[in-house]
Amino acid sequence: FKNVLILILLVATAVSAFLGHGVETIAIAVIVLFAVVLGFIQEFRAERAIEALREMAAPTVLVIRDGQEVDIAARDVVPGDVMVLQAGDKVAADARLVNSVNLQVEEAALTGESVPVQKETEPLAQDDLELGDRNNMVFGGTIVTYGRGRGVVVATGMKTEVGRIAEMLQTVETGRTPLQGNLDRVGHVLARAALGVVAIVVVAGLFRDEPLLEMLLFGIALAVAAVPEALPAVVTISRAIGVQRMVKRNALIRRLPAVETLGSTSVICSDKTGTLTRDEMTVRRLRTHDRAVEISGSGYEPTGELAWKGSKVEASALEKDLLTAGVLVSDAHLVQTEDGSWQLKGDPTEGAIVVAAAKAGLNKAELDDEFPRIEEIPFTSESKRMTTLHAVGDDQVAYAKGAPEVILASCSRQLTSEGEVLLDPSDRSAILEDVREMAEDALRVLAIARKESATLEDAERDMTLLGLAGMIDPPRAEAQAAIDQCHRAGIRVTMITGDHPLTARAIAREIGLIQTGRAVTGAELEAMSDESLASDIEEIEVYARVSPAHKLRVVTALQDRGHVVAMTGDGVNDAPALKKADIGVAMGITGTDVSKEASAMTLLDDNFASIVAAVEEGRGIFENVKKYLMYLLSANIGEVGLVAGATLAGLPLPLTAVQILYVNLATDGLPALALSVDPPEDDLMDRAPRDARSGVFTRSVVTLMLVGGLWSMAANLALFIWALQSGRTVTQAMTMT
Ligand code: ADP
Ligand code: MG
Repeated sequence: FKNVLILILLVATAVSAFLGHGVETIAIAVIVLFAVVLGFIQEFRAERAIEALREMAAPTVLVIRDGQEVDIAARDVVPGDVMVLQAGDKVAADARLVNSVNLQVEEAALTGESVPVQKETEPLAQDDLELGDRNNMVFGGTIVTYGRGRGVVVATGMKTEVGRIAEMLQTVETGRTPLQGNLDRVGHVLARAALGVVAIVVVAGLFRDEPLLEMLLFGIALAVAAVPEALPAVVTISRAIGVQRMVKRNALIRRLPAVETLGSTSVICSDKTGTLTRDEMTVRRLRTHDRAVEISGSGYEPTGELAWKGSKVEASALEKDLLTAGVLVSDAHLVQTEDGSWQLKGDPTEGAIVVAAAKAGLNKAELDDEFPRIEEIPFTSESKRMTTLHAVGDDQVAYAKGAPEVILASCSRQLTSEGEVLLDPSDRSAILEDVREMAEDALRVLAIARKESATLEDAERDMTLLGLAGMIDPPRAEAQAAIDQCHRAGIRVTMITGDHPLTARAIAREIGLIQTGRAVTGAELEAMSDESLASDIEEIEVYARVSPAHKLRVVTALQDRGHVVAMTGDGVNDAPALKKADIGVAMGITGTDVSKEASAMTLLDDNFASIVAAVEEGRGIFENVKKYLMYLLSANIGEVGLVAGATLAGLPLPLTAVQILYVNLATDGLPALALSVDPPEDDLMDRAPRDARSGVFTRSVVTLMLVGGLWSMAANLALFIWALQSGRTVTQAMTMT
């Protein structure tokens, strides 16, 4: 009821009651009521849709309850819960640490200090320390940047340190979009023009001695019909309906303004592992110094056989050493569910090694008991390796796994059946040749090494290479079709991965992503100048062995060329690139809290195809807004033109106030509304992306609007004139019109 036009209509109701027009008064009142109810329902639905998004986007926390790790909503955490913390998590509550493995937390939200703080479990020395010095506590709202740990929750919600400072952040960002702003401005211009015409019509009527109040009533009705008051609102409604559709297709929008941009996406930069592939790793090949064996079996079920030259073999001593080391430097473990199937807890890359070891008769739990872990240097996407230190009898042995080039660079020896021998340059190139061979078969290759008598400081130097493990990660079934669809829709797809260039390229070829075939590694990217990157970027389809920092450069370079970029990411350090991209896309299942918060959209199923579905819906929403505009504005032009034309021609008014209001509601408003929630058209993804800079009022939109409006004006005016000339009364002519 606070809407200006509704208020004006209420005045009109009063005026017509004052004039004693009983039927007219009731008609206007009904129309007002109808408009209010309709507006309310629309806004209510839109708000509920957004509320549902907010609910789904709510963060979750891993806690230990009844001895089990369970994922619960952050708001369900209570004091006494044990939170499991790992890199990329946003801490949900204040907690006292009981376990910390190199845990580092960035507390800028609380202390303003952006350098991460190292966290320990030891009691504090003093009892009046500043927040930033309470290093056996983690605080809600801060971010784990490295390592892992566990803490007992001591305060939640508004009782936490950050709760005392401010309300918790909302996770779904609303706000106005460029399109809404654009429509707002256009709406104002049109409103002024319409009011000008109305004023002329009313003044002309007064000169013809029409009664003042009648003319006032008529003027109000015409103004209400002519002013496109609902322009920005329709964006809200179309968008709300659209994001509901997107959720059904596994794309959760977190930043609403992004929906419009989504439709004009021209490049999608996608992760490989987990997004284009299934991230269900299985070790297929083991390479040690004397032989390469194939391993059979699928999934995480630990049954399968080792085969060498086509016949079944037992694991050799070298292979057992390789797998033992691989298992010890992994955190993933297998659990058997009640129905007997095997499930992986943890990183699939590690899970693959654990499964391969089980196939060779090596049990992770037993190995962990026998050789307890003392220290570790966690895996990061930058270092591409992980190292752990274990107690083996009286000795300390370090184990490492990671990208082959990285591990090989810290090895000086390799293990052979005759014991450790020095690696000479020809050995190194032979090993890299093995890696290349596996990578060309689309295998993800990890090298595994160890070092005896090690300390954490020197663990990653002078190591002994134990061998290589090559694992397959099958492409997602939907990936190829989704990529084809992108190509038809004029959207480029590039792959960005931390994996080996040959592996990346082999997978890219399998899913049909390769067109020009150009692949670039992170190191090559660093060596490129901005100019040469700018000139080559349109051709590069695969970025391999990149770190999160490289992603930012790729996004920037693409944006400089005028592209609208959607970029996926899941790690802690992906946040800057996700923020910079026009559409940051986070992974709902494997993504960190930090990456989700930086993103405009979360994929509930981590699937590339869902990005494409969201783009389609985004295009649909924009099209609907356009349809709505064309229809509604041409109807307005038709009405105002009819009345103005009749006035200029010295004819009586062709419509009464109530008729104008009725036409405005029943034949303009309702059909236009239907258009604004139309399902996407079939050929939507066969068109090129819309130019993001051109607004909604393109030349064709304006032309259609004018042609439609002028046609309806001309047709009605002709009808009205004909009716009058054929001897009918004004009332009859009005009714016919
Ligand atoms: P992706 O883009 O495929 O997810 P990542 O950044 O996760 O790439 O991994 C990059 C490389 O680091 C992999 O090719 C592999 O060699 C190595 N790697 C991946 N996961 C692990 C792990 N858990 N431990 C050690 N090394 C790993
Ligand atoms: Mg990964």
